[in-house]
Amino acid sequence: MATRAHQQYAREVEIAGLPAPVLLRDNPRARRLILKIDPVSGKAVLTRPPQASIKDAIAFAQTKRAWIAEQLAQVPTTRPFTHGATFPFRGKHLSINHVGGRRPTQIITDPLMDGPQLQVGGAPEHVTRRVMDWLRDEARKALVEKVSLYTEKLGVSYNRVQVRDTRSRWGSCTADGKLSFSWRLVLAPQSVLDYVAAHECTHLVYLNHSREFWATLDSIFPGRIDDENWLRNNGASLFRWGH
Ligand SMILES: [Zn+2]
Repeated sequence: MATRAHQQYAREVEIAGLPAPVLLRDNPRARRLILKIDPVSGKAVLTRPPQASIKDAIAFAQTKRAWIAEQLAQVPTTRPFTHGATFPFRGKHLSINHVGGRRPTQIITDPLMDGPQLQVGGAPEHVTRRVMDWLRDEARKALVEKVSLYTEKLGVSYNRVQVRDTRSRWGSCTADGKLSFSWRLVLAPQSVLDYVAAHECTHLVYLNHSREFWATLDSIFPGRIDDENWLRNNGASLFRWGH
């Protein structure tokens, strides 16, 4: 979807000898070729200024092959929700603080702390499950709120909102108005969850990706390209969390 618009910003290039493609991103304001590892997506990202050709960029990445391979090998494959771990949540970062006892799972903000914490009670062996339960609840609340907003804008009704750990799709919509979403969308920036909610709500009107579908979606959710790009470039990283 929207692949053409995406192509002008970023493309994946294969570099011989590397296990994964490098994401080549065009940046009109960049002054030189910049190579880095994106800690969120775990991908090598090469920023290309207007004066460098794609050939130049690939040649540059080839000279840095050993460095890229070494960096990629250090990216963790899974990241469990354990005490002390920091994870992305709706565009912020939360660090898990297991305090035990009968405390509810909740966000604590204190100016004396480094950043917001997710306080988790109960036994240490249940921390992961408690964090995942909390994330599912947060996802459901956020999605129900957004679905209500966009269905109202569209003047349509829906049957129900389900939150699951879907693998192949971020959201889906059935002909009888059942909407289903991945809870992992709460790990993405806020507008990404909003976009997926708006996208599926628009399927309540058009069960296809016709021109009319995109025009209607754009009318209730302008600027979706950034969110589509975010999902394309970083979506896979959301599956590394929890388990
Ligand atoms: Zn769709």
